[in-house]
Amino acid sequence: MTDSDTFPRFHCPRCNYSEPFVRPLERCPQCDGDWLDVIYDYAQIARIWQRELPRRPATMWRYRELLPLRNDAHRLTLGEGGTPLLRASNLAMMLGCSQLYIKDERQGPTGSFKDRQAALAISVMKELGVTEAAVASTGNVAISYAAYSALAGIKIWAFLTSLVPAEKMREVAIYGAKVVKVTGTYDQTKRVAADFAQRRGLYLDRGIRSIAARESMKTVAFEIAEQLASYLGPGLTPWRAPDWYIQSVSGGLGPVGVWKGFEELLRMGLIDRMPRLACIQAEGCAPMVLSYEKGLEKAEPVLNPRTRIITVATGDPGPAYTFLTRVIRQHGGAFEMVSDEESFRAIHVLAKLEGLSMEPAAAMAFAGLFKLLSKGVIRRDEVIVVNCSGHTFPVEKHLLGEDWVQTVEAPRALAPAPEEGLLGSLESLGREVRRIAILEDEPGARRLLRRILQARGPYQIFEAENGRQGLELIRQERPDLVLLDLMMPEVDGFGVLEALQADEELQNIPVIVVTAKELTPAERTRLIGHIQALLQKGAFTDEELLREISEAVENG
Ligand SMILES: *Cc1c(COP(=O)(O)O)cnc(C)c1O
Ligand SMILES: [Zn+2]
Repeated sequence: MTDSDTFPRFHCPRCNYSEPFVRPLERCPQCDGDWLDVIYDYAQIARIWQRELPRRPATMWRYRELLPLRNDAHRLTLGEGGTPLLRASNLAMMLGCSQLYIKDERQGPTGSFKDRQAALAISVMKELGVTEAAVASTGNVAISYAAYSALAGIKIWAFLTSLVPAEKMREVAIYGAKVVKVTGTYDQTKRVAADFAQRRGLYLDRGIRSIAARESMKTVAFEIAEQLASYLGPGLTPWRAPDWYIQSVSGGLGPVGVWKGFEELLRMGLIDRMPRLACIQAEGCAPMVLSYEKGLEKAEPVLNPRTRIITVATGDPGPAYTFLTRVIRQHGGAFEMVSDEESFRAIHVLAKLEGLSMEPAAAMAFAGLFKLLSKGVIRRDEVIVVNCSGHTFPVEKHLLGEDWVQTVEAPRALAPAPEEGLLGSLESLGREVRRIAILEDEPGARRLLRRILQARGPYQIFEAENGRQGLELIRQERPDLVLLDLMMPEVDGFGVLEALQADEELQNIPVIVVTAKELTPAERTRLIGHIQALLQKGAFTDEELLREISEAVENG
């Protein structure tokens, strides 16, 4: 057996250098590049998996052969991975999608998909004999690293930007990590942490450049493909790739690792094609989206992130952008951005339609999905998987006392910080109570409209299942708005409109028609001037519906 037969092995994508995965290596010994991959004996592992996977428990370690830990004795586990892939039927119905799935990463041990990263990265630290380490974070990495370091007996210094909500910082502290609050951006915080680690001779977590961190994220892809096969049945291959993998993106570690995971599955013959990636960023910190629009090879950093969603406020995505840009140019996919408000609204939609409460950073991916569907970038008949990346839990103040945090100033002059306070902004979204009548004969459609409305505000809702009942209801309740189906028994929607027009007291109530019916030109003419908007069932997002409603109510 020669050296080149030994797997796993390091591989440098820049100069093609390779050596067996034996000694710890952070940089390429040949070209000094700081991005090394690990490659494996895929044919042999495919055989092992076929035989053994059915017997293994559903944690990320069932894919052990493709994870770069040298010795199993160093493995740390809190039960990470093995999160459910949920079928989002209500949301799919609202959006008119046929195959929509949610990878529920809230169900990790500390409540975000960073648990995969921490489990592997801290296990590797233990393997390397590390006893004290530093990490910079926008919140969730620090929480997860703190938990796994507690398990490993490693002392951890967590450097967080001062904009990270105090609840998240306390969650880091409860595990015994040293919390250092840096008044500056995340990119400045990373430099402060690196400087501290160097002066103290501490091990520094290398973020996207860490092999363990990237490799851990492959397990998201492995699980999705394996779980999708049980929903869709095997196709040409035993497992199934979705058409789209959608994630909210900050530093880009997730999609970079997930992509490598799908590539390995393709190489092993477990899937027959690659998905497309949709990377969603916050408008106030969207270096990837903006750089891609300009056709840049390297990301232009955003120096002053302006988003209240601090988890995703990485201004300089570095090599992750270069990697993802190549992938999206070559295979299709999308970079998209959404406003903070769009993400906050998506929180309500997902909680009220699917029973999933999530943090704003996770909801961003859903807001991105809504946008990409309405732009026609993602088609409604495609198989879509959204990573619901997290919902971390706050520790109560009184548990910690006073001195659980230290504060340092980042060395450079600082721009004014963006406003904190998600709650404040959520409150300002609240409207006065509005009274809305829904006239719709189909119970499922009625329920869906009611739930979309209830998801979004204190609307008072009245329902009628045919035109005659509807007219009685309108006379009695005098709603601020009517949502009207056209095809109904007894009196149809056209009849309702005529009756409203004929009644002086009712003719000014605004009406939005929501219909599945293909209208003839003559029917369209009958509606013009009498309604505020026409929405095709199954082809509008809740955003569009709500926009029409608020316009109708304001103009009416
Ligand atoms: C880290 C994180 C992200 C961003 O992930 P990256 O792959 O690092 O860009 C999104 N959502 C949540 C909840 C996160 O914790
Ligand atoms: Zn090299």
